[in-house]
Order: sequence, then C-alpha cells, then structure tokens
Amino acid sequence: MEKKYQIVIIGAGHAGCEAALACAKMGLKTLIITLNVDSIARMSCNPAIGGIAKGQMVREIDAMGGEMGKITDHAGLQFKILNSSRGPAVWSPRAQCDKELYSLLMSKSLQSQPNLEILQSEVTSLIAKNGKICGVKILTGETIDTSVVIVTTGTFLKGTIHLGKMHFDGGRFNEKPAIYLSKSLNEDCGLVLDRFKTTTTPRINSRSINYSKMTEQLGDEKPKPFSHFTEIEQWRKNLKQLSCWLTYTNSITHKIVSDNLELSSISIGKVNSKSPRYCPAIEEKIERYPEKVSHHVFVEPEGYNTNEVYLNGLYTGLLFNLQQKMINSIAGLENAKVIRYGYAIEYDYSNPLQLKKTLETKTIENLFLSGQINGTTGYEEAASQGFIAGINAALKILDRDPLMLKRNESYIGVLIDDITTKGIDEPYRMFTSRAEYRLSIRNDNTDLRLMDIGHSLGLISDKTYKKFNLYRQALSNIHEGKINDLPSNEDLSPWSLEKAKEEVYIHKKYERYIEIQNKITNKMKENENRQIPQDFNYDKVDSFSSETKQRLKKVHPQTIGQASRIHAIKPSDIAILTIYLEKQKKEKKQKKLEK
Ligand SMILES: Cc1cc2nc3c(=O)[nH]c(=O)nc-3n(C[C@H](O)[C@H](O)[C@H](O)COP(=O)(O)OP(=O)(O)OC[C@H]3O[C@@H](n4cnc5c(N)ncnc54)[C@H](O)[C@@H]3O)c2cc1C
Repeated sequence: MEKKYQIVIIGAGHAGCEAALACAKMGLKTLIITLNVDSIARMSCNPAIGGIAKGQMVREIDAMGGEMGKITDHAGLQFKILNSSRGPAVWSPRAQCDKELYSLLMSKSLQSQPNLEILQSEVTSLIAKNGKICGVKILTGETIDTSVVIVTTGTFLKGTIHLGKMHFDGGRFNEKPAIYLSKSLNEDCGLVLDRFKTTTTPRINSRSINYSKMTEQLGDEKPKPFSHFTEIEQWRKNLKQLSCWLTYTNSITHKIVSDNLELSSISIGKVNSKSPRYCPAIEEKIERYPEKVSHHVFVEPEGYNTNEVYLNGLYTGLLFNLQQKMINSIAGLENAKVIRYGYAIEYDYSNPLQLKKTLETKTIENLFLSGQINGTTGYEEAASQGFIAGINAALKILDRDPLMLKRNESYIGVLIDDITTKGIDEPYRMFTSRAEYRLSIRNDNTDLRLMDIGHSLGLISDKTYKKFNLYRQALSNIHEGKINDLPSNEDLSPWSLEKAKEEVYIHKKYERYIEIQNKITNKMKENENRQIPQDFNYDKVDSFSSETKQRLKKVHPQTIGQASRIHAIKPSDIAILTIYLEKQKKEKKQKKLEK
C-alpha cells in the first residue's frame, strides 16, 4: 500500500464497489479499504437483485457503465420480469442470485481494475483541515493522504446485533462492527448521526424441506439479462434456472409469535430505532395486522453450490428455539432444519439532509457519503448512490461539472432528490410511485436516457457507443417507416432489430399517456402555492395509504408545495390531493349557487 491516493473509499459493499470502479475507470488513483476482503459485495439479506423500481435502477447504473447488472447476469440463478402482465412502464427485472458467486465476481472486478487498490483494514477516523478532507487513519495507526473520501459503511457503524434477549456487537452476524468511525464523523466532520434497525430471516437446509406442499415459482422461460452488454446468444448456455417456492404462515405460526413477542428483540421498547416499513419482521406484521390469517413465505435458494435456502417474509428477531418452532409450523417446513438464525441489527446512519445533491457533505468539502449510511435500505439503492458519489468525486478532482440526474430522466435522480431534499425518518427504499415521470423512465428505454452520460464520463467505450448510435438511428428509421434502411443484427449486437421494433412499439403506445403525465406534473408544479384548508379531513380520502394519512395529519401542511416536501409523500399522493381539493372547491361553489 502506498501512502497517497486521489480517492479513498471506505467499505466494499454494494455502494463502495460501484464507487471504487467508477473512480478508477475515470482514471483516478483509488484505494478501497474494507473490514474483510472475503466479504466484498456480500448480500447481507436476500441474494436477489432488482424487483419493482429497483430493477430499473440497476439498468440505469448499467447504461452509464456501472457493474451491478453485469455481475447479476453472471451470478443469477433465476430471472423474472415482475409485473409482466401489466404495462411496460412497470416491468421490472429481478434475479435471484448465487450469493457466493456474486461476491466472488465483484471481488474479481475490483482486483482486475487498473488504478484501483484494495486494503483490508478498519478506518478509525477521518482527517480534515480547514473544512476540507485530507486523509484517513486506519486501525494500525497509519495515515493515508487523499483528496477525497467516500464513506460507504452500510450497517457496520456501531452495529449491534439483537437476537431475542441477546445483544452483542457486530456489523453483520460473525463480522465485527466499525466502532471508532462514528465519533470522527460527528466530532471531526460535524455530522449528526442517528440509529436505524433492520432484520433478516433464518436460512434453512433445502434437504429438510417437503416441496410437495408448496407452490413452485418458475423463472421466465426466456430470461432477459439486466445488462445492456450481455450477449444473449452466449449467455447462460447449459445453465439451468432454479425454482423458488411459495408457502404461507398460519394461525399456529401467528400464535407462536404473538405468545412470545416479549422475547423478541423487535418488540417495542427493546430496539427503539426505526426499521424498514416495507420489509417488516414477522413480529411486526402480526402485531400490525392481527386480522390477517396468513402471510406469504417465499422459499428461495441461495446458490448453485449450497443447500442454504432463504425464507423471504420471515424476517425475525425471535430467540433461536422459537425461530425453529415458528418455521416448523409452516406447510412444507415441518421438518426444516435451521442453518443460520435470523436476527435484527441496529446501526448509525447520517440523515442525508446533510448532503448536497452530488452526495458530498455540506459540512466538509470532498467528503462523500453513500449507501445504507444515508438511511436507505437495499443493495440497488446503495449501488446507485455509490456509483453517483464515485462519479462526482472523480469529476471534482478533474475539475469538471458534477453529475446531478434529474427526476424526469432516472429513478436514481428521484432517489437522490428525495433523500437530500426531504430527509429521512425511517429507512428509505425505492418504489415506482415515488417517480412522477415513471411512464417516461421505463426499464426498456434506459440506454436511450442515460448512455450519452456514461459515454461523456468515459465509462462507456467508444466502440460500444458507436453501436448504440447505430441502434438509435435504427429506432428513428423504424419510427419513420424506413424499414429498408436498417443495419444487420450482427452490426447492432448486443442490441438487435427485434429490440428496436419493440422499443418503437412501446414508445408509440405510451406517447399519449406521457403527454398526460407531463400535463399533470406541470399542473402540480403550478399548484405549489395552493392553500390546503387547515380542517381538511385526510381520513376521508380513500385512495391515500394509511402511511400517507398519518404523515399528512401529523404536519397539516398549509400548501400543496409544503405537502410535497414531507418525507415519504409521493407525487401520486400530491396528484390525488390536488384532484380532491379541486372537487371540494367545485362542490362548495355548487352549494353557494344552490343557496
Ligand atoms: C441483517 C440485515 C438485514 C437486512 N435486511 C434488508 C432488507 O430486508 N431489505 C433490504 O433491501 N436490505 C436489507 N439489508 C440491507 C442491505 O444489506 C444493504 O442495504 C446493503 O448491503 C447496503 O450496502 P452498502 O454498500 O451501503 O453497505 P454494506 O453492504 O453493509 O457494506 C458496508 C461495507 O463497509 C465496510 N466497512 C464498514 N465500516 C468500515 C470501516 N470503518 N473501515 C473499513 N471498512 C468498513 C464493511 O466491511 C462492508 O464491506 C439488510 C442488511 C442486514 C445486515
């Protein structure tokens, strides 16, 4: 290891890996420091990439030259386009992955990347002078000089693991936490930290499962890759997809859980920090929805070379013996043997209101934060931020303009805009409903939206870009009906004429709807100063979710603009509110006339 780098990245999780690769590919001398090089890009929870809205983000990273999509294509064991029975705007690719392979392939990518070095150590503090970062200190006491630092520490900052009544330090099970860095982020860098928590499920042995009592969930017959660059002809030759399975909890499961809530680390009073609303522990689901008689449990393989199976839906902080009992109450799992127990983890995060839109901190120049440390949850959210922080760190050193993606060009733009303007009071994950322009920022047109950016950054090669431009020309020719003037599939590969025809079809199908979407969005902007009566009854609006009602009632915003800036209030909520106010106004006018 040398003593001077242009960029130092702390953490080699999903954010850190994308950040490091982007910086090194842009020509900067980069060092990535991580607690354990055997756990690079480890999937701490379910080894699945993509899904609703998250799949779009992976495609966006890929279109700009990032890594996650390529690795997923090679590590996937089952591929599925979610929402395929609905319109293309909400089609979302998802892949169940071989978790060891994913980690290994990402590790190889880092190791073979020019300009990038890897170091196993713990960063204990950051060194800043006159408000600007200038180095890091590691556990051995050595210091490393650098112009920029990107912190991507995930769930490791002062990580505490909770399992029933047991509580011990850990960044993940069997991995040590980072105990010193929080103090430095706070005292040397002026950042305020808070606590969040999350849970994971037990893993069981597939040999102990009775699959005949479950419903098989097959992958797509013709899987579609995540990456724009994966050549379909060569891809997954002779590699079989594995099945996932579906079963359900029942009244016995629920009784085991509710009888023992006080023995779970999830229960109120034991772990006070907020957990992800949309990935609740089974204890939380049973408390919140007592009327529900069963919940889904997806039984998902974790790899080609392991018998470990993930129980998606059974996130828990119950004690060991109760986890085993709960699992054995479920159809098909009567004799299931646990290999690893589920647990809850609490960790420090920094509210992203302390960041600029480039993901640089407002308190210290050239210090960037990305991933779970910003209060988000999920591999894709982490990778997206890591990629953008890496690019912006490199652009800053190169003295070039920063990259700030807009809400109408990408989900990544929505994510960063949301967290840096509205802040966070519970773990943030992406949904299609957070994106007011979701009809335009589809899975199918990611390359058209973002590949120019990737090329201008030097992350998409000239050779690829030339082919992409040929594809773009083909699209325009098909659109104009010039079908005799088209390149061959060979010239276009990995794009194809089939893809071009499908793209034009989807574009035409959505043209009118996109016009309406843009009109609604413009109207929402015009309504920024529109007053909301202080006695407005949010409970009366059936289309609001209970979360939306709860948040609006808490703040009672005075204007539409203020409502739109409340954390977790989605553009779709604002559209509904505007329509409702309009309706109320008309009704009032009508009543006056009648009088
Ligand atoms: C128990 C558990 C349950 C989860 N459940 C869910 C879920 O239900 N849904 C969901 O979407 N996501 C879940 N996640 C979150 C998901 O794993 C993260 O969102 C994602 O991994 C975050 O990526 P990251 O790159 O920010 O951090 P991580 O993947 O956590 O990587 C952090 C990296 O930083 C390194 N590091 C930390 N501190 C230091 C230091 N001081 N010096 C050097 N290196 C350091 C670590 O070694 C690690 O490599 C869960 C995570 C855990 C642990």
